[in-house]
Amino acid sequence: MSNRKKILITGESGFIGSHFISFFTKKYPDYELHGLDNLTYASNRSYTKYLESYPNYQFHQLDICDREQINTLFKEYEFSDVIHLAAESHVDNSIHNPGLFVQTNIVGTLNLLDAFKEYSSGRFHHVSTDEVYGDLNMNDPLFHEDSPYKPSSPYSASKASSDHLVRAYHRTYDIDIVITNCSNNYGPHQHKEKFIPTIIYAILNQEMIPVYGNGLNVRDWLYVQDHVLALDLVFHKGVNGDTYNIGSNNELSNINLVHAICDIMQNKGFNNPRNLIAFVPDRLGHDQRYAIDANKLKKELNWNPGFEFDQALSITIDWYIDHL
Ligand code: NAD
Repeated sequence: MSNRKKILITGESGFIGSHFISFFTKKYPDYELHGLDNLTYASNRSYTKYLESYPNYQFHQLDICDREQINTLFKEYEFSDVIHLAAESHVDNSIHNPGLFVQTNIVGTLNLLDAFKEYSSGRFHHVSTDEVYGDLNMNDPLFHEDSPYKPSSPYSASKASSDHLVRAYHRTYDIDIVITNCSNNYGPHQHKEKFIPTIIYAILNQEMIPVYGNGLNVRDWLYVQDHVLALDLVFHKGVNGDTYNIGSNNELSNINLVHAICDIMQNKGFNNPRNLIAFVPDRLGHDQRYAIDANKLKKELNWNPGFEFDQALSITIDWYIDHL
């Protein structure tokens, strides 16, 4: 039997998944890579379809909630490893339809873990979020890997549950796992429902830029390619059973982020974008601040974010202008 890695990457047609699988397909020609996605509204198949010309890539349109089909897929291909990104990912949608998040993020993860336990012998890498830790006050210390889980939204509660399941399968069935909890990402390919694309599209269309509450909620923003490089490192070198936080100490309040985008777009020729800012009623249960301590990843695996914020934000804005 061949020792060639045969990796299933779920959520491959979404924002982070599409960057990740493109990077992996090119960097690891000796791996057999299987992208899986059921192509929800949040996906865009065109981001990864070009990979079909690469001999080490295959696509499977499949729902991780379909336990029988997932089992059949694992039985047929006997994947060595799984990198699991598929999820419902938008907090606002989770407030309106929590049941969908429980199905996809918890039951879907359970189905993958059961199939993995039966047919795979490599590593299960769960791609998760810093939102499982809840939120911080302005002077609280950063989240670290041992911070207690205190999720606030149905989205973060479902991701916390799936993290717990992955850890429980490691402890109970001795499967090889790693979990990464990352801060907010930005970059090309993000669905327009998310905050940064919303701001950019509003300016492109000369519409109101909606800012929740007083705009003082703080997020730690990481460029998607820096996340991809961290995932590559943790997948290959992370310690079995361990969790790694990923973040860039790039805390910004929402209103300062809006101002940064307005200023870059003003320099690109858009007229007084700041005039479009409008404060709207706050999101229910809106987390005040997320900020992550990524020192473990930096010290143990020598990761550092490489992209400078203003420059990566400008690249991101150019991409949305080109793809209006
Ligand atoms: P996304 O919503 O852009 O993409 C998710 C992908 O999963 C989509 O292509 C969707 O079609 C697919 N999917 C959804 N339900 C599925 C199902 N039942 N079966 C198969 N595929 C399904 O999300 P994203 O921003 O790329 O996030 C990817 C992962 O990273 C998620 O697990 C998310 O929790 C995590 N994460 C995201 C961020 C961020 O800032 N975007 C930060 C930290 C962690």
